[in-house]
Amino acid sequence: MQLILFGPPGVGKGTQARIISKELNIPHISTGDILREAVTEKTELGLKAQEIMQRGELVSDDIMIGIIRNVLEQPRCNNGSILDGYPRTVNQADSLIKLFKELNIKDFKLINIEADEKELVRRITNRRTCSNCNSIFNYSEIKDIVKCPNCGAENSFFQRKDDKEEVIKKRLEVYKNTTSPVLQFFEKYKVTLNVDGTKSIDEVTREILKGLKR
Ligand code: AMP
Repeated sequence: MQLILFGPPGVGKGTQARIISKELNIPHISTGDILREAVTEKTELGLKAQEIMQRGELVSDDIMIGIIRNVLEQPRCNNGSILDGYPRTVNQADSLIKLFKELNIKDFKLINIEADEKELVRRITNRRTCSNCNSIFNYSEIKDIVKCPNCGAENSFFQRKDDKEEVIKKRLEVYKNTTSPVLQFFEKYKVTLNVDGTKSIDEVTREILKGLKR
């Protein structure tokens, strides 16, 4: 099954994508993680993306469309995948539909996770990431511990530069103006499942899995 996890920054796409990836045994493709890895490794892509990401803006469609094509053509995605953070523009969405056709992917769903802006800002400012496994935690969960509960790495928690308050406002504005029109673009395919992202992690997972069975 081909899934698209959609929603504003901080709504829980990454957390849910990791859980559902294990549950359905399909790879989790996070374009944010791909870009962050490129930044760490100082590849040509990373050098181009770094400043754009730190400003909370979007990397160009041409680059992103190329990345997704490369990933979806890999054999590990033959039984589907979970896209997290892609598409983020109508142009990316349009090219994704064309790529699905080319790769004969007919069965796809868009899971739209929703939450209000105040909640998103609260979550993002409290978000900490493990530099080893990319797992996401709330600061209150990990403030007194040294080892990552997921992978056991020591002293690996950090706050993403673009999770700081001044950048969050920009990311939410980009979501509202440029990314949210993607929802309208997908309306005609009747593949959207709306999920309340303010519920607990377990409840959101249950709602998604229930919705996918329908
Ligand atoms: P994320 O981890 O999904 O919040 O993505 C972090 C940052 O990576 C975004 O704020 C963008 O700068 C960049 N990025 C990730 N996915 C995309 C995409 N599909 N299109 C453009 N930029 C992206």
